[in-house]
This record gives sequence, structure tokens and C-alpha cells, in this order.
Amino acid sequence: MRMQAAVLEQFGVPMPVHQVDLQAPAAEEVVVRTTAAPFCSTDWLGWKAMRNKKPPVILGHTAVGVVEKAGADVTGVKEGDLVVVAGTPECKKCFYCAISRPDQCSALLDQPEPLVATREDGTRIKAAGRVGAYAEYMLANQNQIWPLTSDLPHAQLSLLGCGITTGHGAVFNVAEVKAGQSVAIVGLGHVGQWMVQAARVAGAEMIIGLDMLPVRRELALELGATHVLDPTKSDPVEQVRNLTKGRGADVVLEAAGPESAVQQAVLMSRRAGTVVLTGVQQYEASINLPQLALAIHGRRILACQNGQSIMGRDIPLCLNLLETGQYKAGPLVTAEYPLSKINEAMYASGELRDLSGVLTF
Ligand SMILES: [Zn+2]
Ligand SMILES: [Zn+2]
Repeated sequence: MRMQAAVLEQFGVPMPVHQVDLQAPAAEEVVVRTTAAPFCSTDWLGWKAMRNKKPPVILGHTAVGVVEKAGADVTGVKEGDLVVVAGTPECKKCFYCAISRPDQCSALLDQPEPLVATREDGTRIKAAGRVGAYAEYMLANQNQIWPLTSDLPHAQLSLLGCGITTGHGAVFNVAEVKAGQSVAIVGLGHVGQWMVQAARVAGAEMIIGLDMLPVRRELALELGATHVLDPTKSDPVEQVRNLTKGRGADVVLEAAGPESAVQQAVLMSRRAGTVVLTGVQQYEASINLPQLALAIHGRRILACQNGQSIMGRDIPLCLNLLETGQYKAGPLVTAEYPLSKINEAMYASGELRDLSGVLTF
């Protein structure tokens, strides 16, 4: 199938939008016509050669769209259905799926990214995260699509496969935030803003958001933060301790990436508190943490990919929270772009001007 696709050909160079041929679906695959795909900071890092990508590759690891064609063995969806295509699959066959941890599914993490399309010169092109959303159509396995019905704008629904489930899952699946707790969130990008909303829905009494950008702090206050702090003004660890009777927060959620942010996240939690790490800046980066804060002071250091979500369970949950107005996606969609403006969307994400800039088709 002929289609337009933004193709990462060379790291750090604007991505051309090419005509390419998408291959026909195998028996367990579907072709989905993309209607909305968020530009994610993960893709900015991929473009900057910080995510171990191997060009040529179509970036974009989640989207919503309409099933255009279904392979012979596909069950559960049919042509014309609206679906979330997510980077986190659930193959139901691997070790991790068998222990209810599809966030670590072998189909995503133990296999190379699939070749899905061909350029005019015959070069095969991969799909990032098995999705390749920055294209008019996606070739997806049925184990990574989830049907949904909703009248919400597709630009908002497109966030379900990444930011929403990641922030929601970090709070509910991993930190297991309880009513009355104090929660600090390090980094108020799109994932941090979803953590703010999830912490509010979980009944956290104090929600402290930290970000250097005033516009992001203001939005966090609108979405449920009770306090916001500028970590560049004075020591963020001291600031959080001052707000929490000198102890530190019960739960700290890190959604920033740099080593300093991770270290601060650990130190601004209280003794025996819970810290959830979600950021990765450089693929090969490592972090140093003080041993005393861990072994003697008994902090629980947790981490997660996509909020440890089980998509079949968590997408309907999050959709219900959107439909009932408990989660607000509107303010997170800071711009919409046609596919031809993919590079504008990319720079707006990387230069922190957008929270979620969404490509709409
Ligand atoms: Zn993402
Ligand atoms: Zn699996």
C-alpha cells in the first residue's frame, strides 16, 4: 500500500516525508489508518541517536486510527473499528506475559524492530516500537491494538498509548499511592502532568510538582498539584522537605531523566518512602545513588516502563477517567500538526515548547 511516511534516515537531520510502500498484513496483523499520533520526547531522543535506533525507521510509538484491513487470523477487531495502537504489546506467549508483566513483553524487548515498508529504491524501513506512527498507515500485530469507542477528539485519545497509561500506571500500578499521602513529581513534561492528575484521582493530600518552566508549573496547579517548585531556584530536596515536616514526601515520582533529577528524587522522599523512576535520558547512562538512603533508610526504589500497564485493563480504565472528566487531556495537547510538519512538531517537543504536539491526519 502506497503511503506518505516521515522516515528517520540520518540522526539529527530533519526527517523527509517520503512515499513508501507498506507491506500487506500477515495473518495476525492489521493495517491501521492513522488518525492521530503524539510526538513524544522518546522520539526526540531517538532522532538524536540516544535510543539505539537503526535507520531508516519510521518513528512514532503510539497512535489511534481506524482498522483498514485485517489479516485472516485476526479476532476481536474488524475493518472500520477505532483502535489504539500501542508500543507495549501483549503477545500472551512469552515468559513476561505469563507472569502478567506485558510491559516487558518479549515481542517488544527481545526482538528487533520489524521491517514494515519499502522505499522507492528498494531499501526496507523499520517501524519504531513496532508501530511507526508518523505515517498515513501502520502495520501492527493484533497483540498491540486495543479497540475503543469514544467521541473525544482523536488527538486526545492518541495519548492513551503513551503518556496517559505511563503516568496513571506509575501512580496506581507501581507506587500504589494511597489517599492522604504526600506525592512529589520531578519533571512536569507530559508524563509528569499525567502523574499529577493520577495522584489527584488517587486522593493524595499534597501533590508537589517540580519543573523549571513556569508554564508547566502553572498547568500542574490547574490539573491538581497543591504546590509547585522551581528546582533551579533553591535546593529542591530542601524545598520538598520544608513542605513535608522535614521528612520528605511519602512518594516521589521521577519523570525527568537526568542523573541529578534521579538523585534528587531519591533524597526528597522520606525514610521508608517509595520512589518510582521512569526517565531515561541516554540509552547507556547509569546513575549513582547514596547507599545510606537506600539500605539503612529503607526507601523502596521502583521503576517502570509504560507504567507497568496491562493495556487491555488500563486503557478502558483511563478512557473512563477521560470520559468522566477526571482526567483532562485537552490542556496536554498543546498543538496539532499535519504529517508534512513533522519536523516542526519534533523541534517543539525537543525544545520543550509542546507537552504533546499531535500529528493529526
Ligand atoms: Zn511516548
Ligand atoms: Zn509477551
